[in-house]
Amino acid sequence: MNTLEVSDLSYRYGEKQALKDVSFRLHEGHFTALLGPNGAGKSTLFALLTRLFVSDQGRINIAGHDLARSPRAALSKIGVVFQQPTLDLDMSVMMNMRYFAALHGIKGRDAARRIDQALERLDMRERAGERVRSLNGGHRRRMEIARALLHEPAVLMLDEATVGLDFKSRRAIVDHVHDLADAGLTVFWATHLVDEIRTEDADSDDVIVLHQGRVLAHEPAADLRGTQ
Ligand code: ADP
Ligand code: ADP
Repeated sequence: MNTLEVSDLSYRYGEKQALKDVSFRLHEGHFTALLGPNGAGKSTLFALLTRLFVSDQGRINIAGHDLARSPRAALSKIGVVFQQPTLDLDMSVMMNMRYFAALHGIKGRDAARRIDQALERLDMRERAGERVRSLNGGHRRRMEIARALLHEPAVLMLDEATVGLDFKSRRAIVDHVHDLADAGLTVFWATHLVDEIRTEDADSDDVIVLHQGRVLAHEPAADLRGTQ
């Protein structure tokens, strides 16, 4: 139930067919990488999943809610980290978290508890008082991920969450997000970087390969072993 299911989804920009009959169902509690080169359609898919774009071809179901019919219920079940950070640089980490919690109607002690928990999960607790401006790129991304967990989503979606980061920061983020999946969260991780996919010791990692708007494969990440 705590998963994402896409059926026969298509989308075009005028003449350009960006997605064609895309269907898949994420395994609950798995880390699923959406792998595809630039132009494959990853951002378009994310825009549809978050209802920035709407398509009349195909269906999207999030944690049991049809996105077209019950957008509020469906969207309340996803946490999203976009490629472009949306942080207020002059606010502290804590203020950013409180602000975001308030947007979700989460207040008072409940907000304090959830913020503490979310920062803890991303190992960002000790940075709560720092201004976002003073954080490095990796810590900013981790704060964004923590923020996306506040409303306790069933599915966490990240679109190229490591763009512009050095190898060490990327690794830390990939590891943290795997920990979230290991704790039961369904994770959808869009990337064009094969090295962000764990093929060893990762029974709960899957890969969906997107190419020119079509799903070429949906398989355990371990099946990629040796092909990287
Ligand atoms: P990815 O995120 O995998 O790089 P996109 O979803 O951005 O892929 O793009 C999928 C395809 O749709 C590409 O061929 C891209 O050039 C095209 N595309 C994306 N946005 C537009 C747009 N606004 N108008 C026309 N074509 C677009
Ligand atoms: P991404 O890294 O998400 O694939 P791109 O660099 O492909 O982003 O595209 C950046 C922006 O330009 C996006 O908003 C996308 O929708 C738009 N875009 C991409 N391809 C085209 C295109 N062929 N025509 C018009 N807009 C496009």
